[in-house]
Amino acid sequence: MYQDKQIFDLIDLEKERQLKGVELIASENFASAQVMAAAGSVLTNKYAEGLPGKRYYGGCEVVDEIEDLARNRAMELFGAEWVNVQPHSGAQANAAVMLALLEPGDKILGFDLSHGGHLTHGSPVNFSGKLYQPSFYGVEKETGLIDWDKVEAKAKAEKPKMLICGASAYSRDWDYERLRAIADEVGAFLLADISHPSGLIARGLLNDPLEYCHVVTTTTHKTLRGPRGGMIMMRKDFENPLGKKTPKGSLRMMSSLLDSGVFPGTQGGPLEHIIAAKAVAYGEAMSDDYMHYIMQVKKNAHAMAEAFVGKGYQIISGGTDNHSMLIDLSNKNLTGKNAEESLGKADITINKNMVPFDERSPFVTSGMRIGTAAVTTRGLAESDMLELVDFIDDALRNFENESKLAEIKKAVNEKMTAFPLFHK
Ligand SMILES: *Cc1c(COP(=O)(O)O)cnc(C)c1O
Repeated sequence: MYQDKQIFDLIDLEKERQLKGVELIASENFASAQVMAAAGSVLTNKYAEGLPGKRYYGGCEVVDEIEDLARNRAMELFGAEWVNVQPHSGAQANAAVMLALLEPGDKILGFDLSHGGHLTHGSPVNFSGKLYQPSFYGVEKETGLIDWDKVEAKAKAEKPKMLICGASAYSRDWDYERLRAIADEVGAFLLADISHPSGLIARGLLNDPLEYCHVVTTTTHKTLRGPRGGMIMMRKDFENPLGKKTPKGSLRMMSSLLDSGVFPGTQGGPLEHIIAAKAVAYGEAMSDDYMHYIMQVKKNAHAMAEAFVGKGYQIISGGTDNHSMLIDLSNKNLTGKNAEESLGKADITINKNMVPFDERSPFVTSGMRIGTAAVTTRGLAESDMLELVDFIDDALRNFENESKLAEIKKAVNEKMTAFPLFHK
């Protein structure tokens, strides 16, 4: 029998890396043992194109129950009236929404990638920038904040078919009510992509986008702490304003358009093992333990931001309302690349990131992005954040000193090995 020692040895190495290091990449987290057990189950063997009760394959009785549980839990968690839990990732969720609601060549208006936006919101290297005509809004240079009046002016000038809000690196909350008023004024769909802060939104720690946005997309593996994947939601289904008809001639509801944007529009068979793992994660996210966790994520981010500011670091917008922060390293005479590399040598994982109005290339950058979702899962609290900032500051001040970085790595490994990888 073929036994794959090579791959499983590498998985062990990766587990060791995760256990010993400090994980501060804002988009990462540690899924629970039961989320991983579902993701690694026999459900990977099943084809189930279609939706529960309306499949193109036999033998779907059990996966129908699983996907229904996932959908019902997701709706309860976010207060939604409709969800599709099949998107394989956040990018796939956005692709499905755009395919369903736009025609090629339509205009879209999103948050600038170089200010913290996402590739799928109109970048020229992504389908969203190739199939549609993108324009962008950004933050103000002085404040690091989005000025909603400027978003309105841009929307009036561009008249997009879709206005997109949400970001990968924006540490402040969004005014969805104002954005909906802007979208209504120009006749646009409003899409909120809450991939990063979805866990905080689910538990009421940030403004609720479902109240105002036509459609909301998210990943399931960031603050939500599920398996790698995506989903699409609406609080209220409504008759699509584009007049798209079903083959029988009646007007189609938005939900049926969005469902067909996922399948057959952009995906084939759903990953029922991942959908089962999403159901587990939604269940976890409704628990008291998760509430405690996600509140601590926010407290840790706040404590960390204050500690960085205390050491003279420049945080874009001056602080954070969520789990993340973007730090401009220009005043420390460091690039994002320097920071990512030297911290990596100390087993502290962050990612280099463009800062607004960055003059360096995306491969070098002037900033670093940090988030507290993963370290909080491991059980770290505010006092640990101060210690982490000390490690980071020490490593950055000695970024070319290999023996000093090795010393910090040793201290980091000692500290982190004491914290389990999985939450209960
Ligand atoms: C992470 C992210 C995505 C993409 O998620 P993938 O699962 O990597 O495809 C989409 N939008 C935003 C805002 C994100 O932060």
